[in-house]
Order: sequence, then structure tokens, then C-alpha cells
Amino acid sequence: MAAQLSVSLDKIVHNTRQLCAAADRYGVAISGVSKGTWGCPDVAAAMLAGGVSGIAESRLENIARLREGGITCPLWLLRIPALSEADDVVAMADISLNSEPAVIAALSAAAVRQGKRHGIVLMVELGDLREGVLPGDLSAVITAMDNAPGVELVGLGTNLSCFGGVIPTPYNLGRLCAYAQQVAEQSGCSLRYISGGNSSSLPLLLKGELPAAINHLRLGESILLGRETVHGTALDGLYQDCFILTVELIEIKRKPSLPAGEIGLDSFGNVPVFTDRGERMRAIANIGRADMDITGLVPLEKEIAVIGGSSDHLLLDITDIEEKYKVGDSVRFAIGYSALLQAMRPGSCIHKNIVREDLPAIS
Ligand SMILES: *Cc1c(COP(=O)(O)O)cnc(C)c1O
Repeated sequence: MAAQLSVSLDKIVHNTRQLCAAADRYGVAISGVSKGTWGCPDVAAAMLAGGVSGIAESRLENIARLREGGITCPLWLLRIPALSEADDVVAMADISLNSEPAVIAALSAAAVRQGKRHGIVLMVELGDLREGVLPGDLSAVITAMDNAPGVELVGLGTNLSCFGGVIPTPYNLGRLCAYAQQVAEQSGCSLRYISGGNSSSLPLLLKGELPAAINHLRLGESILLGRETVHGTALDGLYQDCFILTVELIEIKRKPSLPAGEIGLDSFGNVPVFTDRGERMRAIANIGRADMDITGLVPLEKEIAVIGGSSDHLLLDITDIEEKYKVGDSVRFAIGYSALLQAMRPGSCIHKNIVREDLPAIS
């Protein structure tokens, strides 16, 4: 059996529902971010069934996949658009996140050509040092937009915990709200969205500490993997196993834990280091680093430990549960975000198995 990734749509609906209900208490709408699944239409539909107000994606190719898969809701483009793709952005997305005046001008021209209106959420740099207009430049960018037909300023947003790992706080998100107030005064109309970030803003929301003016979040990982992203903590009442990887055992043998011989480079150019734990029952599974980031694999059976892997082999220590397994059996794992991305990538060797199931109640 080739390695398989099963995708539980019902667990994704459940996670979305819980998070949307929590956000709703504070007047916060959620865009479901499907980029971890490369715009998988089934996953987006599950998020919509769970109550998100729209879907957000980082790439136009994923937006195309969503539309071809029958997703008709408003779509946001998360990665600030390339100047060269302005026409496609206007044709395919309803709203995009932006920080460059030249790109906004190109979106305006494209919108006029296509007879469309395109929504702009202006990103503000609040310390994480990825995309965003510097606060001191906001006023000038808004003024320039006054003369840009076809595009409409629909909100202000920020993105934290991505490049710099900067944690969202009442202070930095409060600054976003203050800038939104200034922009509303300057442009004479209130902004529809004050978009306070991604899954790393959830701990604040759940503690009731998100500044009151924030009315929108963009959530991907928390819905898909059931955890917040500041510390990677599992969120109560959410499933962490919406995605389960199943692999087959192709060798099981008792072997020493120390390699025999002089140690040089391993197959990825590193000098490996080992601890002597005596003889251990080792299993090899049919997946490897060519498939995904194996550091993100967590065996569902807690007695199994991942020892490491090469391009095509995953090495497991099954000593504590050896009587349960024989060659040909399968082993299951929960996966991390980068492993999810690699497994879901269209054309990956991992077979995707979209499942619906009757869920046990979760408190
Ligand atoms: C990826 C992304 C998100 C979603 O992040 P998660 O951590 O998956 O919730 C939100 N906003 C932007 C701009 C993004 O690039």
C-alpha cells in the first residue's frame, strides 16, 4: 500500500464551527485559509459548512482550483499580488491584501478594463517584518487610492508570527485599530474589515483580549490542525487529527541502536549522532524525506518513536509495542503543517483519501 493521507471533512467542519462560534462572541468574522491544502475544494466547502464568511488563499493557482471545484463564495488573495499578475488577480479574487502603491494602481487599471470592482485590504507593518505599509506612509497611500477607480479600500490588516515570530498583543493589535480609526477619518468612511491576523491571534481572542475594533481573522492552521500557532498548543475541543497519514511497514528487525563502523556523512550531508540504547526493535515504513518533512510526523500510537529517515525510508522504534506489529501492517501519524503542505501538494506521491465519518462527540 502506498502512503495515504486521509482527510476528515467532518472534523474540519467541527473545528471550524467551534472557532467561528468563539469568534462570533466577540463580533469577529473568520475567513477560512485553505492554502495548507493547496486550495482543496472539499476542505474549503467543509470550512464554509462550519461557518466561515469566505475563503482566503495565498496563490492564484489555488484560487483557480477552488473555483473549478465549485466554490462560489468571496475569495481573498493573501500573498500580496505581483505587479505582473494584476489582471488575473482582479479576474479571480474579490479582495487582495496589498502594500505597494504601484500594484494597487495596476489593480485599479485592471479593474477598470474588466468593468469590475476589486477590494483592497491594506497591510500594515507592525513589527513582524514581512509585508506591510510602514505606519508613517499610510496617509500617502490612502490619498493615492482616492484617485484609483475600480478599487475600493475595504480594510486594514496585519500579519504577525510569520517571519519575525512577533506575538500578537493588545498593544500591537491596538495600534492596528488606531491606524484604522485614522484612515477612516481621512477617507471619510469606516472600514469594513479590521483584520487582526492569523491563527496566532487566537489565544488573545479566546482570552477576550483582542482589541474590540478587530472584526476579522484569517484562520488556516488552527482549523486544519486544531492548534494555535504562538506556542503550538492544542486547542481544547478541537481535533488535532483531521489529517492522518497511513504508511506500511516494510521491515521489522531487532538491531543495535548504534551504527557499526566509522561515521561519515548521512544521505543528507549531515554527520549523524547516536545514543546507545542497546538493541531495539526497529521498523521501516515506506515514506521518506522526498515525500515530506518527517520531523512533523507524530505516531498516533504513543509507544512508537520516529528515529529518523532518509529520502524514501522512515525508521521507527517499536520496541515498546513490538508484539502488535508485523511486516505489511500499517502505522498511522498525525502530521505537522509543513508535512501537510507537502502531502497535499497536487501531484505528490501521497494518495489523498477524503473521508466522511460519524464523529464521536468531543467536549
Ligand atoms: C497563511 C496566512 C494566514 C493563515 O495563517 P494560519 O497560521 O494558517 O492561520 C493568514 N494571513 C496571511 C496573510 C497568510 O499568509
